[in-house]
This record gives sequence, structure tokens and C-alpha cells, in this order.
Amino acid sequence: MRKRTLDIILIAGVLLAAALLWLWLRPVEAGGSVLVIQDGQEIARYALHEDRTVTIGEADYNVLEIQNGQAAVTDANCGDHTCVRTGAVSRAGESIICLPHRLEIRIIGGADSSVDIVAQ
Ligand SMILES: [Zn+2]
Repeated sequence: MRKRTLDIILIAGVLLAAALLWLWLRPVEAGGSVLVIQDGQEIARYALHEDRTVTIGEADYNVLEIQNGQAAVTDANCGDHTCVRTGAVSRAGESIICLPHRLEIRIIGGADSSVDIVAQ
């Protein structure tokens, strides 16, 4: 009887670990947002699930493209183009940084993400 209980706890633990890993690895769902931070201040926020292309700045510009739940800087006139080479980001906590323009594009999870998990 005691061994059976231990088995159940072990199986539950493995399933929980697998579920957590799955939640951690999957892309941010509809509630995710793209934060645009310049000089440490949030200047814009866009929904990650709405496709759009925006140009941030004028003389110093970065083109932010949000498509299929991913955000990427597709063009910029900064010196190093690190932001463009970073490619697309889609998971909460990931970011694209453009040092010359003191710009950060950061993905954050949606406020309703906990509701989403309960609904699974
Ligand atoms: Zn850049």
C-alpha cells in the first residue's frame, strides 16, 4: 500500500514537471504584449497577437514588426544592427535591445495568463 502511494506521488511529480516545462516553453498566448521602452521609460505597448508594423523614432528609427505572435526589429539605422540580428522574440521575458538608440523591445505575459492556465 505504501509503495503504491509513493508511485502515485512520483507519477504526479513527473506529470507536474512536464506540465510546467510545457507551459514554460510554449509561446505567450493571446494575452501577451510587446513593450517598447526607450531611455528606461515605456513609450508604447502593443498586443502580441495583432499583426502590425510600426516605426519607432524619426531621425533614429527602428522598424518593429509584430506578426504571428512574434516581434522583431526588421530595420533600423543604428550603427551596429544588433537589434535587427537578434531576430524574432515571442516568449515572456525575451527582449530585443538597441543600445545606440537606448531602446528595448520586451515581451511580457498577459494579465489573463493565470486564468488561461486554470482553463487548461
Ligand atoms: Zn539597433
